[in-house]
Amino acid sequence: MTIIDGKQLSEQIKDELAEEVHKIRKAGGKVPHLAAVLVGEDPASAVYVRNKVHSCEKVGYKSTLVRRNATATEEEVLQIVHDLNCNDDVDGFIVQLPLPKHINEEKITLAIDPRKDVDGFHPVNVGRMALGLPCYLPATPYGIVTMLERYGIETSGKHAVVIGRSNIVGTPMSILLSRKSKTGNCTVTITHSHTKDLPGMVKTADIIVAAIGIPEFVTGDMVKDGAVVIDVGINRVDDSVSKQGYRLVGDVKYDEVAPKCSFITPVPGGVGPMTVTSLLLNTLKASKKEVYF
Ligand code: NDP
Repeated sequence: MTIIDGKQLSEQIKDELAEEVHKIRKAGGKVPHLAAVLVGEDPASAVYVRNKVHSCEKVGYKSTLVRRNATATEEEVLQIVHDLNCNDDVDGFIVQLPLPKHINEEKITLAIDPRKDVDGFHPVNVGRMALGLPCYLPATPYGIVTMLERYGIETSGKHAVVIGRSNIVGTPMSILLSRKSKTGNCTVTITHSHTKDLPGMVKTADIIVAAIGIPEFVTGDMVKDGAVVIDVGINRVDDSVSKQGYRLVGDVKYDEVAPKCSFITPVPGGVGPMTVTSLLLNTLKASKKEVYF
């Protein structure tokens, strides 16, 4: 069994990006610039945005944080998006979700110029992904296909079962795995809360992607020997022994499942670190005009 070390791989990719930025700088080219918009005081969102900005600094990108408190109006946020769309120095930007309830997230996402939508959430990018056209891939599925590729995991002809169908993880993951591409060509089953006999379905999988948001949902008896298991879940469970009073677990019961796998991602240190790295990869693509030219 091989543990897919997302932390180590993301550091390696960041080193590669830093080297590329160094070369761009030396040649007098434009350094990639990512902007992040944070509205409100949600502590988890603040941590995510801080991580993204910190990662930009680490690889030598320029980063800008636009911060507003929770009372910001929808018009104000739309104006920020408009300004970033028009700012030639900004290659790509993200609006951290969730937004305060009085702001329509769909309206904000649609207002982002698809050419700068490095989160890959705009319907234009989602449509292009489905058609196999150049696009910004959503960060978490992009991180997963990068892990599969870098670990040399064969996907062609395999049966992949994706657990969960959210717009940011399950659905794009199922599309990417089924695409005619190097990390695709799978036969994909996508499962959700209406799926009958989900454990039986998972048991037939060569590749399992668990993105359900239920701690340790996938147990050893649901996994066939030699399966590749990608655990997307990040769940807090009470833990009186730990200093914070909680610990993080995935959607997979790691101790039971790991001995049966050929490859598995741990939580933490698996998919999570790759998500931010994917955003950096998308930003580089944006600055090099590799997706839209
Ligand atoms: P969502 O809550 O948006 O989606 C969960 C999916 O699981 C839904 O499709 C839902 O089905 C399905 N589901 C829920 N309960 C059941 C059940 N009992 N049986 C079968 N299916 C069920 O979650 P996300 O996709 O946003 O996130 C999933 C997990 O991944 C979370 O733990 C989240 O924290 C984590 N995550 C991690 C990231 C990372 O960077 N590592 C990034 C994003 C998320 P239905 O559609 O029918 O309701």
